[in-house]
Amino acid sequence: IGGTYVEDTSGAPIDVVYPATGEVIARVHSATPAVIDQALSAATAAQKDWAALTGTERGRVLRRAADIMRDRNRDLSILETYDTGKPLQETLVADATSGADALEYFGGLAGSLTGEHIPLAGGDFAYTIREPLGVCVGIGAWNYPTQIACWKGAPALACGNAMVFKPSETTPLSALKVAETLTEAGAPPGLYNVLQGLGDVGAALVTDPRVAKVSLTGSVPTGAKVYAAAAAGMKHVTMELGGKSPLIIFDDADLENAVSGAILANFYSSGQVCSNGTRVFVQSGIKDAFLARLTERLKGAVIGDPMDEATSYGPMVSESQMNIVLGYIEKGQAEGARLVTGGKRLDRDGFYIAPTVFADVTDDMTIAREEIFGPVLSVLDFETEDEVMARANATEFGLAAGVFTADLTRAHRVVAGFEAGTCYINTYNLAPVEAPFGGTKASGVGRENSKLAINHYSEMKMVYVSMNDVEAPY
Ligand code: NDP
Repeated sequence: IGGTYVEDTSGAPIDVVYPATGEVIARVHSATPAVIDQALSAATAAQKDWAALTGTERGRVLRRAADIMRDRNRDLSILETYDTGKPLQETLVADATSGADALEYFGGLAGSLTGEHIPLAGGDFAYTIREPLGVCVGIGAWNYPTQIACWKGAPALACGNAMVFKPSETTPLSALKVAETLTEAGAPPGLYNVLQGLGDVGAALVTDPRVAKVSLTGSVPTGAKVYAAAAAGMKHVTMELGGKSPLIIFDDADLENAVSGAILANFYSSGQVCSNGTRVFVQSGIKDAFLARLTERLKGAVIGDPMDEATSYGPMVSESQMNIVLGYIEKGQAEGARLVTGGKRLDRDGFYIAPTVFADVTDDMTIAREEIFGPVLSVLDFETEDEVMARANATEFGLAAGVFTADLTRAHRVVAGFEAGTCYINTYNLAPVEAPFGGTKASGVGRENSKLAINHYSEMKMVYVSMNDVEAPY
């Protein structure tokens, strides 16, 4: 807060647990109302001066922060692995590096954020001024703590806003490093503040009149609450919420690529990815070969110590998330899905669940309808394109969707028909900073990344300029 660590142990203690062993590795304290107030005051004060800099000056700070993050990638990745349990093999390439990409990309854009000139009748004209919103609040989920802190912070700061970020209480550590890095890169004290706490701290931020915008990454029920609270104060929102995304594999798909896609869509980060394609619709002609090859390939997962770079599959983030997922696995079996592989907790320390595949899953089963947020892949059978499109879209969610086929015309027809914000043809789950990311329907509002994110962190002031006498009716 204000560029420095604030120690206030009167807030509720939050233990940080290393998911691979269950050990407590750190303790932070929930922000008290006084600390929340301190962060919002610091952000409000810092924002004015920051917005007065040129975009190029702001961008320079962000790009410096990107360089620092890349230089320290290994240390930041180790911290992320302690926080989340995700294998170092993943965190080295997908967390601080993704955060650095966002800082670099939006740092590069900052100097080019402008309004426009609009010629009008009689030589009159209007112009627009792109203005920051003010103090933005970011609230994060626990699966990609560094990435989320940067995906929200980078566009916010590029546009001239300040940020108060609240990470999930399950993974409170890495956002602190993002704040440290920005400070070291030259961000003024108070520009990017981190508050620890549970939902109540997030809720206090969302309702504070000093806050202009709220960007949440979380579940649909939390999104609905935060969206409603923000609406009461007429605040801007970005909502990146959950999903139950379809991945359609046609008979003519390249089998090896389709299996790789299904693995990326279900087991990366032990399945704790919002855009996962967990409903894998497989056409009848390729089903047996697909299941056989998938089962074979899953044997290649190296399950173990996340700090060992050879490990490719780690634990769930917490004991409670593990129990939620085990509950879904039980439900899947009780409702008649066929367990092909996995389906149980692994006999070792930490919160590990074996990569799990169900076949013969039908649309009405709980595991085909609700977001599990764990390593559980459901295979659903289908015969025709029309049939599968109707079934793929029959969900409240609309975050992502994918198709594997060798028929290009069909591929484009299928993605045109998907009710989803983020679609893939012959691959899955890539989220480069240059391209927009986000959902439709219950999965969210607004987009992160790409030039589109700029519109969600700034607004346009219109200025009408008359070059003529003013005509009034009387
Ligand atoms: P939650 O919805 O439980 O929590 C998200 C964040 O909101 C947490 O920081 C949480 O705090 C906070 N929060 C909870 N209640 C409130 C409230 N009333 N007001 C303000 N803030 C509140 O999600 P999870 O952390 O469990 O993350 C998993 C979910 O996130 C999944 O549904 C997943 O799909 C989604 N997600 C979406 C992504 C996307 O980009 N679309 C990416 C990643 C995840 P605390 O946890 O400390 O209580």
